[in-house]
Amino acid sequence: MSDTKDNLPRVQAQSPEELAPPDVKPISKVAGGMRAVLTAAKYTFQEMGPVRGTRTLLLLNQKQGIDCPGCAWPEPDGERSHFEFCEEGAKHVADEATTKRVTPEFFRKWSVAELSRQSDQWLNQQGRITHPMILRSGADHYEVIDWPDAFALIARELNSLASPDEAIFYTSGRTSNEAAFLYQLFVRRYGTNNLPDCSNMCHESSGTGMKESLGFGKGTVTLADFDLADAIFVIGQNPGTNHPRMLTSLLSAKRRGCKIVHVNPLPETGLDRFKHPQEFWTWLGKGTKLADLFLQVRVNGDVALLKGIMKEVLDAEERRPGQILDQEFIDRHTTGFAEFAGALRHTHWGEILDQSGVTKVKIEDAARLFIESERVIFCWAMGLTQHKNGVANIQEIVNLSMLRGQLGKPGAGLCPVRGHSNVQGDRTMGIWEQPAADFLDKLGQEFGFEPPRAHGLDTVHAIQAMHGEKAKVFVALGGNFLSATPDTEYTAAALRRCRLTVHVSTKFNRAHLITGRQALILPCLGRTEIDLQQSGPQFVTTENSMAVVEGWEGRLQPASPELLSEPGIVVGLAKAVFGNKSGVDWDGLVANYDRIREHIENVVPGFDDYNQRARQPGGFYLPNPIRQLEFNTGDGRAHFTVHDLPRHDLDPGQFLMMTMRSHDQFNTTIYGLDDRYRGIHNGRRVVFLNADDIRLNGLQDGQLVDIISHFEGEERIARHFRIVSYNIPRRSAATYFPETNVLVPVRNFADKSHTPASKSVVISIRASEVEV
Ligand code: SF4
Repeated sequence: MSDTKDNLPRVQAQSPEELAPPDVKPISKVAGGMRAVLTAAKYTFQEMGPVRGTRTLLLLNQKQGIDCPGCAWPEPDGERSHFEFCEEGAKHVADEATTKRVTPEFFRKWSVAELSRQSDQWLNQQGRITHPMILRSGADHYEVIDWPDAFALIARELNSLASPDEAIFYTSGRTSNEAAFLYQLFVRRYGTNNLPDCSNMCHESSGTGMKESLGFGKGTVTLADFDLADAIFVIGQNPGTNHPRMLTSLLSAKRRGCKIVHVNPLPETGLDRFKHPQEFWTWLGKGTKLADLFLQVRVNGDVALLKGIMKEVLDAEERRPGQILDQEFIDRHTTGFAEFAGALRHTHWGEILDQSGVTKVKIEDAARLFIESERVIFCWAMGLTQHKNGVANIQEIVNLSMLRGQLGKPGAGLCPVRGHSNVQGDRTMGIWEQPAADFLDKLGQEFGFEPPRAHGLDTVHAIQAMHGEKAKVFVALGGNFLSATPDTEYTAAALRRCRLTVHVSTKFNRAHLITGRQALILPCLGRTEIDLQQSGPQFVTTENSMAVVEGWEGRLQPASPELLSEPGIVVGLAKAVFGNKSGVDWDGLVANYDRIREHIENVVPGFDDYNQRARQPGGFYLPNPIRQLEFNTGDGRAHFTVHDLPRHDLDPGQFLMMTMRSHDQFNTTIYGLDDRYRGIHNGRRVVFLNADDIRLNGLQDGQLVDIISHFEGEERIARHFRIVSYNIPRRSAATYFPETNVLVPVRNFADKSHTPASKSVVISIRASEVEV
């Protein structure tokens, strides 16, 4: 390739195809159906070929089959159909099992700066990385490095730090339980709790809020509860794109008369109409209407809306004393009700209606539906967690659920829907910067060492530590840290200040291009591939959103003979860092993953007979105290909590922006430039605005604009976006990430959980000076 003038790798590519105006077409009115099947088939056959692709998909999410690397939606407990996957799941698997390869030749051809000018979609499309690669200090190109040399280099850097706390060890939600347990053991044996993970950026607010209110940070329902619920509230979530098989559960519930309420700033096709892709006889019809009630909140209007519904419930109780609230549940199992109810009565309707953007009539409808339903499930996702008041959002849902005793009974409960396949399991395995003392005690006893006790750095504080050169080595087990995190330019500067950045990866991404002084890419096996160790082929386990732990085994030949498994990479690192001094039989652990599971059984509660139960088809449930109405809160009771209404004092011309995914991406992986459920094609650099806001601010539909975010007197800018007039509440805006992560201030995060406030970004919009 020819040399470029500007040799500094770009944090955002802004390639010509990305900057071209998107086509705005009519929005697909139905999710699923034939279109989903054809899209899944097209992507799979294109990436994997028809025979290999079909064989793999038939194993996907089957008992003892291959685990989908996508979201964490569970499989049914009983019989499974032959097609236990969705369009997105097919894309995820095909993307991993692609026949395309990123070889040493590729890296010889392309410099890092040249690669950085390619779009994220192009980078991902190049295929699987085949060899460990190093970018040496001052070099323009990655080159091959042997595994032992790579491990030795990392060990040298880690062992030369003044303190283990100068290293950061990130984990993505793809990592299996076995790899995660080994990784946290290695990191704690090394001497730090600096274990940030992707959970810090998504459901941390859920875990924090639930733990404080209920003493337990995971969901309380199983899939079987969806068969019994009378009403399901889906709040701040777009399952049609992010958890598509959830639509199948909603469809079954709907068909037996369950009511569905959708709360979101944007109407989402998936919750409007759905055709089950396997019911081919319905493909030509209009699909089933899912949501009975759509409450179109303003961005971050959820606390106000939930308070409105709860006010209605309390008013109904006053009108019909003893008939509305579950007073027995409140008296026996909770505390703080009087204070909560008192504060709610003093919240004014004017503020509730203004902040939520929902009419009183609709709030009354929602309250009536809630009151008339004996069993209610509440589902939610990032729409609630990524705000300064993310924890308060979750706790208001807990408050609402407790008013009518919607915990500890079949068909009811709380369902934070996790977006990455093992993000919940990784946390169970100890990937957490704030480990509990009893976990550390057991870990230390099991392996004969004293684990560090001081809390480590979460994601936003890890970025700040690297930026301030307090952390100097960054290791990521999976993921695309640069693109997943807020404040992209700041994060890029933070990574560039590191001495060494290391990414364990299957595919190529932008995080490999914005690096420390030296950088390593360590290529690993994917979920679909055979993991052959000394004792034979290995299986691994994951934990889904409903705390089912299940075993999975890859069946495809690895993309390259040079690949190591994630446990193999952790063990390589540990041996290089500790030599013979750690007292842990690392070789024995990687030779047979049963040995890892034996240790997990001894350290993590709920994993009795792990090796036996992991081999049970369909896996096993972890204990869930809330289902038994056991609240580990100190006083044994669930806590009602009181929260102020969040304030957003927007100046004239300002909007509250949320970031979101398109239908053609999974987290930071961009599969294509179409989002048919929002009518956007061949582009992603768009900002969705209300038509009245466009007109009143002197803007135009289709206009090229720059977006400026405002935080504590600082401005950040994202250039070259097209305005799309959309059905979104006034003063609200929506954009796709990772393109607009650049606008999310690293210091703007949720109270207590520190989840970046990516859905509460104050922005203004101005005409772009340059037409592209
Ligand atoms: S619903 Fe989630 S886990 Fe299931 S196939 Fe789709 S992406 Fe994969």
